Amino acid sequence: MGISRILIANRGEIALRIHRAAHEMGIETVAVHSTADADAMHVRLADHAVCIGPPSATDSYLNIANIISAAEIAHADAIHPGYGFLSENAKFAEIVEAHDLKWIGPKPEHIRTMGDKVEAKRTAGALGLPLVPGSDGAVSDIDEAREIAAEIGYPVIIKAASGGGGRGMKVCESEDQLETLMQQAGSEAKAAFGDATVYIEKYLGNPRHIEFQVFGDGNGNAIHLGERDCSLQRRHQKVLEEAPSPVLSVEDRMRMGEICAKAMRDMAYRGAGTIEFLWEDGEFYFIEMNTRLQVEHPVTEAITGLDLVREQIRIADGQPLSVTQDEIEFKGHAIECRINAEDPWTFAPSPGLVSYFHAAGGMHVRVDSGLYAGYRIPPYYDSMIAKLIVYGRTRNGCMMRLKRALEEMVVEGVKTNIPLHQALLQQADVQSGDYSIKWLEEWLKERE
Ligand code: ADP
Repeated sequence: MGISRILIANRGEIALRIHRAAHEMGIETVAVHSTADADAMHVRLADHAVCIGPPSATDSYLNIANIISAAEIAHADAIHPGYGFLSENAKFAEIVEAHDLKWIGPKPEHIRTMGDKVEAKRTAGALGLPLVPGSDGAVSDIDEAREIAAEIGYPVIIKAASGGGGRGMKVCESEDQLETLMQQAGSEAKAAFGDATVYIEKYLGNPRHIEFQVFGDGNGNAIHLGERDCSLQRRHQKVLEEAPSPVLSVEDRMRMGEICAKAMRDMAYRGAGTIEFLWEDGEFYFIEMNTRLQVEHPVTEAITGLDLVREQIRIADGQPLSVTQDEIEFKGHAIECRINAEDPWTFAPSPGLVSYFHAAGGMHVRVDSGLYAGYRIPPYYDSMIAKLIVYGRTRNGCMMRLKRALEEMVVEGVKTNIPLHQALLQQADVQSGDYSIKWLEEWLKERE
């Protein structure tokens, strides 16, 4: 192993997750943190820590100059970006490599291509992935938009080319709204992402969100690790994820997985990636590719037994994939609950002092979290404070264990969405796996 000290350019549970993989490989870690995160668990556990700025993410976790300086001061030889923040910033990846640091992520050109959703769709189409019907590239002219929408049929969805995190999307039900929504989408995209480019696609009525985990070695070898079903969403944000999907057959998994792996081989993709699809009536439609580790990666780890962060580090170090496709076995079922510090029903963020914390435990229960009693959750960042990942030999066994594990989780001092997860598990549709991306919001509306 050439890598001996990794700088973790992130915070929270994912910083801890990366630290753990590194230490299990005998690699030292450097934590970087804002002044608001000086007491964070990953900062305490890392071998070295460097403060990179004030609370605002723009001045700290997104501050490229300070992160690179920290890497030099602490003699790191590699950088892992986690998810969010700079993880899909191609320029950052290039700067890291230009400073002779190993970038634990995909090739910068692939981050750039997939980060632009218009480019990503074009590339995916060329690689043989099935697409959502829609405009062939960006649309700026309203007459052209009308023509395309009429051809694919309403409703359509207008999406920002630079969008992400579930933002920058407008559903358009009919032609008389199209002009207004196109303009709104463009100006909102400009304000949020600095790029007004939008494109149009068919708005699918009741799909599921199914994504495939892929890995490439950068030299034309690539594998898939099956799918995750992330259909339980609120405002296009995932709430609970599971693997495998309750609706896919083994044949569908292997067929789609192979299409994804082949696409990655053809582009000589390097590192971890996720190819996201909407799935409706047995058909897959590509929506985007994420060129990073995903929040929900542990469900894949649970059913394959592979450590995805370790795999990422090995690949960045120039080593081959540790497994061949034939060696990968999918066993059992796993579910992840994203635990947020927020009101379970109004979703208002609830930062502040955690007076008491007890993590669930027992067989096949994993809690990824930097939380501890006495920790003050800062108000500046994402509200996710923990991930509860549970494994079972069967889906039903997994659900029973998850129910039991949720009963054990105690977080006092702040509100969390644990009651939401508990209520979800009581629902017949969730128990049977019969839900689409619309399900959660409709259920929440009925409860009001
Ligand atoms: P982001 O990068 O913001 O996450 P995605 O393109 O991955 O954007 O879409 C996020 C979510 O938005 C999807 O999981 C799905 O719920 C919804 N969505 C996106 N495109 C469509 C579409 N064509 N039809 C219906 N829903 C869609």
